[in-house]
Amino acid sequence: VFLKSITIQGFKSFADRVRFDLQHGLSVIVGPNGSGKSNVADAVRWVLGEQSAKSLRGSRMEDIIFAGSSGRRSVGMAEVSLTFDNSSGIFPLEFQEVCVTRRVFRDGEGQFFINHSPCRLRDLQELFLDTGAGKEGFSIIGQGRVEEILNAKPEERRLILEEAAGVAKYRVRKREALKRLDDTERNLERLSDILREIE
Ligand code: ATP
Repeated sequence: VFLKSITIQGFKSFADRVRFDLQHGLSVIVGPNGSGKSNVADAVRWVLGEQSAKSLRGSRMEDIIFAGSSGRRSVGMAEVSLTFDNSSGIFPLEFQEVCVTRRVFRDGEGQFFINHSPCRLRDLQELFLDTGAGKEGFSIIGQGRVEEILNAKPEERRLILEEAAGVAKYRVRKREALKRLDDTERNLERLSDILREIE
């Protein structure tokens, strides 16, 4: 999957709209401590569906919205977009480029877009489950994560590799199907209780 650009606005330390254009091969972001390098990685994980504020190094989701600085007022919305090259058709969409966008407002309202059309968080997460670019994928390795992966139990390492390989999708689907079966089972039980009462 080739990520062509990352656009960030109102997310953490990025008050103004900033676009990072990436090239094929290796791209490196350099800067002094605390200048926002890790925030770029957080932004990418967030669009890919990260739901845990803690794993984005905040305590509440609101913490990811630019909170203001000495010369700057806070803003009301954070927005991050990723534009992927889709000339190989890796995403099942009829577009040469796929742009995914996530927004959050201070009142907690969230919005999601695929190529500028509103969608659900779930649609966005599903889009990536197959490609190995999901938030748990091998593709984003945060500070300390290298060691974590090396030290992980074999089962945990397997989960990471499975997402990278695009197998995780089936695990998620299976879990959902099992839950539906379970719900149906319970409904049936309730139904037969009612039937017994009537008889
Ligand atoms: P290091 O090299 O130390 O790891 P870094 O370049 O990765 O640093 P980050 O951790 O990405 O830096 O950025 C931290 C900066 O982001 C801090 O200065 C912090 O004040 C700022 N920041 C985080 N959240 C917000 C927010 N909601 N509003 C404004 N600034 C924020």
